Amino acid sequence: MMSSTSPAPRPGILEIDPYVPGESRLPAGLKPIKLSSNETPLGPSPKAIAAFREVAGELERYPDGSATSLRAAIAARYGLNPERIVCGAGSDELLTMLAHAYLGPGDEAIFTEHGFLLYRIIVLSNGATPVVAPETNYRTDTGAILARVTERTKVVFLANPNNPTGTYVSFDEVRSLRAQLPASVLLVLDAAYAEYVRRNDYEAGIELVATTQNTVMTRTFSKIHGLAGLRLGWAYCPQAVADVLNRIRGPFNVSVPAMAAGAAAIADKAHEEAAAAHNERWLPWLSAEIEKLGLKVTPSVANFILVHFAKDGALGADAADKYLKARAIIVRKVGAYGLPNCLRMTIGREADNRAVVTALADFLGGRPA
Ligand SMILES: *Cc1c(COP(=O)(O)O)cnc(C)c1O
Repeated sequence: MMSSTSPAPRPGILEIDPYVPGESRLPAGLKPIKLSSNETPLGPSPKAIAAFREVAGELERYPDGSATSLRAAIAARYGLNPERIVCGAGSDELLTMLAHAYLGPGDEAIFTEHGFLLYRIIVLSNGATPVVAPETNYRTDTGAILARVTERTKVVFLANPNNPTGTYVSFDEVRSLRAQLPASVLLVLDAAYAEYVRRNDYEAGIELVATTQNTVMTRTFSKIHGLAGLRLGWAYCPQAVADVLNRIRGPFNVSVPAMAAGAAAIADKAHEEAAAAHNERWLPWLSAEIEKLGLKVTPSVANFILVHFAKDGALGADAADKYLKARAIIVRKVGAYGLPNCLRMTIGREADNRAVVTALADFLGGRPA
């Protein structure tokens, strides 16, 4: 007997608020300064662009479904076993596949208070229950994660560094978290911004994946490698997890141009270094200049900063966002991350960064946009 008149998605799906990406367009058709999606101001490696162009004449061919040459390039760069690397259409796809493989109704997955929004979406999509661990000072509190573990906990998602806060937890803390989590809990270390981190006590996750059976690290070509438009990411996994992902992924989930460009990008260490050096120069500068204006900036190790505004009203985050937009500067509102009084801003080119500081000074000084 049918009880409903229309198809119904599985439980949990309608609780999902669709992901709203960083804005990219301005009404007037102005060319904006886009600092809303943590893209690199340096663009991709010229070698990646050349590799992309080179495959344009053979687009009728299916890709190599096992991404052999790309996995080999990643493995060579980091000294990894290519059998334990799985590639995806962005790390989003890999995170989604991990949730699909390891979570179902009745299961719980833990992530942090201001953690990456995708985690909530992929947990609910699989009918599982999201469990939120509070942060301390916009930073992951591994004790709060451990305090929320139950026998239903199957996965912990940890962005390190986290987006949108820009904060990180040390390798010692991550290792201690892993050691205290039950062996049956999969720890997913989302290291989308790893290449930007300049801290001696940070480790992206390779060592833990190598030495445990229950830790996965995801990486992306979207951020420092500047290939967000191609959709490419990779996961380094215990062999058993790699086997699981290879069973459920689409047989041709990574495109020919993405593979070609990705392999060239990961081999171009000099370009990556240049992007990291640019960030190392402008991250502290932008943070300090904005703090000089009297705004609080959460200390970041990534390629973006979280800026705190007055609670509301004329000097609040929404007003600042509107003001910046009027100056053709697009940043990211983060109300959906539980941070309604903040804006997230990507580190841009020198001129972009200077334009942001000038605009914020004018905003706070009450000058018209
Ligand atoms: C940008 C980002 C990703 C990467 O997404 P892709 O699908 O690889 O483009 C993953 N995790 C976090 C925390 C991010 O900010």
